[in-house]
Amino acid sequence: MKLANYVYGQWLEGAGDGIALQDPVTGEELVRVSSEGIDTGRALEFARNTGGPALRALGYEQRAALLGAIVEVLSANRAEYFDIALRNSGSTEADAAFDVDGAIFTLKSYVRAGKALGPARHLKEGARVALAKTDAFQGQHFLMPLSGVAVFINAFNFPAWGLWEKAAPALLAGVPVLVKPATPTAWLTQRMVEDVVKAGILPVGALSIVCGSARDLLDHVGECDVVSFTGSADTAARMRTHPNVVARSVRINIEADSINCAILGPDAQPGTPEFDLAVKEIVREMTIKTGQKCTAIRRVFAPAAASRPLADAVAAKLASYRVGNPKSEGVRVGPLVSRAQQAAALEGLAKLREECETVFGGDADFAPVDADPAVSAFVQPTLLYCDKGLDARHVHDVEVFGPVATIVPYADTAEAIALARRGRGSLVASVYSGDAAFLAELVPGIAELHGRVMVVDAAVGTNHTGHGNVMPTCLHGGPGRAGGGEELGGLRALATYHRRCVVQGGPALLEALSRDAADAALLGS
Ligand code: NAP
Repeated sequence: MKLANYVYGQWLEGAGDGIALQDPVTGEELVRVSSEGIDTGRALEFARNTGGPALRALGYEQRAALLGAIVEVLSANRAEYFDIALRNSGSTEADAAFDVDGAIFTLKSYVRAGKALGPARHLKEGARVALAKTDAFQGQHFLMPLSGVAVFINAFNFPAWGLWEKAAPALLAGVPVLVKPATPTAWLTQRMVEDVVKAGILPVGALSIVCGSARDLLDHVGECDVVSFTGSADTAARMRTHPNVVARSVRINIEADSINCAILGPDAQPGTPEFDLAVKEIVREMTIKTGQKCTAIRRVFAPAAASRPLADAVAAKLASYRVGNPKSEGVRVGPLVSRAQQAAALEGLAKLREECETVFGGDADFAPVDADPAVSAFVQPTLLYCDKGLDARHVHDVEVFGPVATIVPYADTAEAIALARRGRGSLVASVYSGDAAFLAELVPGIAELHGRVMVVDAAVGTNHTGHGNVMPTCLHGGPGRAGGGEELGGLRALATYHRRCVVQGGPALLEALSRDAADAALLGS
């Protein structure tokens, strides 16, 4: 079966044999995708000319209601999505929930937030500014929705959430969406789009999908489009420097890979709640979605005296996890999504081991439960230990996109800060400490290079939302190596799909333009 693309209001199969999507446990071919013969330029033109105007004829609260209808469709088909995630991504129930329920949760958040903007169709920012000695000539800043397309080029690890966390703010802003999911796991994204399109919720042209390589997509984007890319730093660099993107100053938001860290404070010694909370979170981050999360903990910095007991505690927990076919009873860790990802992870692991000792796992020949290692894509959860700290290179630079983390001891707060900063920009750091003096130095020392810093102490306990969980109401994105992008953060995300303009003129004109506008201050509320 070849999955159909949905472009220019039509369901179209790509030409040729296409590319096969496989079950990473059995190697069985599931479906095929192809973008051959799809006119991506026409697809974008149709979305711009048909979907965009229809969406922007509605106000923000009406578009929020459309998101609400999408929630209903996705919720009704949830079981089917879990089945696709199990077969195409090797997802356990918990892994699939992280992606599918995360998508629905995020959409719901934008339904609620979008209502607050009311029936307006653009935003007014700040007060009027005086430009002359009298009131005769003034300026007013506005945020106007873009008249182009939101083009999403997505990563394989979040086929559900990766679409909807971007689509929710784009559609709410009145900007049509064209998604190109990553090929290995495109099936789930395609099925969700098919369900939503067939339910007739959105105007025609508001949601399009091209499955397969679609390598010419960026040749056709223009100054009123937004490209939102999620994937590896290497591909991101190619997107950023694409000649058409450069020539037309196309807005591009990049979420790339990231060597995130967890930091235990000097007080997080064995026997303390902070130590136990850190152990729990490190193991969770290594195992949920088999470590295939952009936000996963890759490096753990611990005070020297606590680092060996920490390694022992994490290793003991990992030893209790069953790794194998997610269809088997009690399995908590599934495979990576493909043999190619397995090969890439093992290659990265070999590099890390050049400067680390292996505390747990790392056996390329380990036997997964109920799966044939010759055809499946498993990587054993692996904990490493590196006592070279700042002298290490790969630990701070190689992203093993799988169930692998490295513990690094530090001597003092200055060293903990320096180690965290060696990630050269990350999505998230989590800190386990109740030591106020340590936090007062550490948090400002790392915040500039991290999109999110989560601090957990005994009082927060298990109330925290998780190191790797991206909350729709909070910023997602990180500087430097993490791509420099910004997503979510509640209504802040709408800024990506609007353009700021100041209109200078007489008060009557400015009053007329402002009358039906919502207050842009709501974006930051
Ligand atoms: P990838 O290989 O960089 O691919 C990402 C997307 O780019 C895929 O849809 C891919 O399509 C497409 N692509 C590649 N070259 C292209 C080109 N020349 N023109 C147009 N599209 C092109 O990344 P991945 O392996 O799917 O994802 C894993 C990476 O994503 C990890 O490094 C992870 O850290 C990162 N990630 C980051 C975030 C975040 O929010 N920061 C979230 C999730 C994942 P094909 O699949 O068809 O090749």
